[in-house]
Amino acid sequence: MLPHGVINAVAHAVRCPFKQCQYPNCRLVYALLLHGSRCQVRVPGGCLLCKKMWLLLYHHALSCKEDECYVPRCRDIREKMRKRLQAERDDEIHNKAAVRAAPGA
Ligand SMILES: [Zn+2]
Ligand SMILES: [Zn+2]
Ligand SMILES: [Zn+2]
Repeated sequence: MLPHGVINAVAHAVRCPFKQCQYPNCRLVYALLLHGSRCQVRVPGGCLLCKKMWLLLYHHALSCKEDECYVPRCRDIREKMRKRLQAERDDEIHNKAAVRAAPGA
C-alpha cells in the first residue's frame, strides 16, 4: 500500500519544473515516473520499480477528476476502470434477471 502523500504528489510531480523541489515526495515520484519511461525491463520483465510506478499511477487515477490530466496513462487507466465497472454492472443486471427467471424464486 502507498502512503497518501506519495499519491498526492503524482499530479504535482508531473508538472514540477524544479530540480530541488521541497514538495513532499515530489522528487521521489518524479524519479519513479522517469524510470518508468526509460526502463527496458518493465513489469513483464519483473521490474519492481515499474510495478511501484503503475501502482502509483493506478491510485492516482482512482482519485483523479481532471479532464486534462498530465499524469501519463491517467486517462487510459480511468477509461479502463469505467469500462470494467460498466461490465460488472451489466453482469449484475443479467444475474438478477436470471434469478427472477428461475422457477420458485
Ligand atoms: Zn515539485
Ligand atoms: Zn523498471
Ligand atoms: Zn490524473
